[in-house]
Amino acid sequence: MSIDQDRQGLRFAIIGAGMAGILAAIRLHQAGENFTVFEKAGRLGGTWRENRYPGLTCDVPAHAYTYSFEPYAEWDAYYAKGGEIQTYFEKTAEKYGIMPHVRFDSEVVSTVWDDDAAVWRLGLINGEQVEAEVVIAASGVLHHPKLPDIAGLDSFKGRAFHSARWQDDAPVDGARVGVIGNGSTGVQIVTALNTRAERLVHFQRSPQWIMPVPYFQYSEEEKEAFRRDPALIDEIRNNKEYWDNIFRFTHAITDTHGPEIAAIEQACLDNLENSIRDPELKEKLRPDYRAACKRLIYSWSYYDAVQHPNVAVERDRIARIEPEGVRMADGRLHELDTLVLATGFHADRFIRPTTVLGRDGLSLDDLWSIRPTAYYAVAIPSFPNFFMLNGPTGPVGNFSLIDIAERQWAYIDQLLGRLRSGQARTIEPRADAHADYEERRIAAARTTIFGSGCNSWYLDATGVPASWPWSYEAFADAMATPVMDDYVTTAPAELAA
Ligand code: NAP
Repeated sequence: MSIDQDRQGLRFAIIGAGMAGILAAIRLHQAGENFTVFEKAGRLGGTWRENRYPGLTCDVPAHAYTYSFEPYAEWDAYYAKGGEIQTYFEKTAEKYGIMPHVRFDSEVVSTVWDDDAAVWRLGLINGEQVEAEVVIAASGVLHHPKLPDIAGLDSFKGRAFHSARWQDDAPVDGARVGVIGNGSTGVQIVTALNTRAERLVHFQRSPQWIMPVPYFQYSEEEKEAFRRDPALIDEIRNNKEYWDNIFRFTHAITDTHGPEIAAIEQACLDNLENSIRDPELKEKLRPDYRAACKRLIYSWSYYDAVQHPNVAVERDRIARIEPEGVRMADGRLHELDTLVLATGFHADRFIRPTTVLGRDGLSLDDLWSIRPTAYYAVAIPSFPNFFMLNGPTGPVGNFSLIDIAERQWAYIDQLLGRLRSGQARTIEPRADAHADYEERRIAAARTTIFGSGCNSWYLDATGVPASWPWSYEAFADAMATPVMDDYVTTAPAELAA
C-alpha cells in the first residue's frame, strides 16, 4: 500500500510511527485526509519500542503522558513503565484506525521537493518512490545511540551494549554489571538492577541532581473508577499543582537567579542530605553545577538503590576498558560480566540521516551544519509543506512531550488550513522571520539554566542550548496562533495561471 495517488485532496506522508507520528495520523484520519505513515521498523512506538531496559519508566506522571483525547484508565502507577506505554500507543493506533495506514519496514531514505509539481518525492529503503504534497517529519529526537569514546571498548570480553539496544540474554542476575552514565536512563537501570546483580558499579562522570518525587500504585478500585468516569482522569491531568510545577519549572530554567530554581536546588540538596547516610558517598553524589542544567533526574528510589550493599558508585576517571572490565585512572580494575552504556544519544540528528532536499536542492544537512534549526521548531524556509513534530528548538525538559506535540499539531493544522482551503499550494516560513526567531532564541537560550556551564545533550555543537528558551506559557501562546504574516505561500496553479 502507498499513498493513494488517484485520490483527490492533499496527500500526506508522515515519517515515523512513534508518539508524534501516531498523533498526526489520528488527526489526519479524523479530518478525512489521504495519508500514509512510513515507519522504518516493524512495529510502532518509537522510543518506547526501542528502549526496553530494566526499570524503563516515564518520569512524567502517567495520566499526563497520554493524548488529551484518549485518557487511559489502565496505568498501574503514578509513573508508567515503558511496556505499558508501548501497549497504550498500540491500542490507541488500533482504536483510531491508524494501523492500515502504516507501512512498516519502510524507512524513508530521501525526500526531495519538486517545485514544478509542488510535491515531495520520497525514496524508500526498498527503492520505491512515493509522492506527497505534505511531509510531516515525526522522526523523534533521541534515537541515535551515542557510544562513549573510551579506549578499549571493543576489547571487552563480556557483553557491552547501549541502553537502547538491550540484550535480554546478557548476564544480569547474580552477575557483575557496570553501568556507564547517570542520566535519566542510567539512573533507572541502576535502580532496577541493584538487587539483581551480584555487584553493580555505577560509573558517573558528573554527579546528578536528584529530585525526589512521589510514587504510588493505582488500585483496581481506582482503575475501575477511572474506567467508569474518565472525568476523574481529567482531574488528574488538569491538576493545578501539576501545572503549577510545570510553569515553575520553566520559570526556573529561564530565570537562573529566581526563587523557582533556588527551590529546586534546595529540594534536591535536602534529598541528598536526608537520604544518603555515608558522608563519603554523599560527597561523591554532590553535583558541582546548577540544578536543571542537565535534565533533572526525577527519582523516588535512586538514593536507596546506590546504598544497597551490592552497589558501588565510581566517580574516578575511567582509563580504558579491558577484556576483563573497566580500568580506572588510579589503576583499579572493576571486573565485569556485562557493561551497559547508558551514554545518551546524538540529539542533533532529528530526521537525519534521511536526505532532505528543499527548494533549489537546498540540503537540510547543509542548512543544519552548525545547528539544527526550525522556525518555532516546526517549519523551515525553502522547505515548503514540510512540518516537524518535536523538531529542533522545541521545548525539552521534565514535562510531557505528548502535550508539546499536540500543541505543535494545533499550530501546523492552522497552516494546513491554507492548503486545504485552496488559498495556497505551498506554505513555508519567511527566511527573515526565521532568522529573527533564531537570533532571539539563541540570545535567550544562552541565559537559560541549560547554558549555565555544564555539559549536556541540550547543547548544540557550539555550546548553545538547543531548546526553547522561554516559558511554557509563551510556547503555548505561540502554538495557539501562528503569525501568518511570517509565512509565505504560493498560489494554487489555477490562480497563478
Ligand atoms: P544522557 O542524559 O545524555 O546521559 C548520558 C550519560 O552518559 C551522562 O551521565 C554522561 O556523563 C555519560 N557519558 C557519556 N559519555 C561518557 C563517557 N565517554 N564516559 C563516561 N560517561 C559518559 O542520556 P540518557 O540518560 O539516555 O537520557 C537522555 C534523555 O532521554 C533524557 O535526558 C531524557 O530526555 C530522556 N529520557 C527520559 C526518561 C523519562 O523517564 N522521561 C527516561 C530516560 C531517558 P556527563 O553527564 O558527564 O556527560
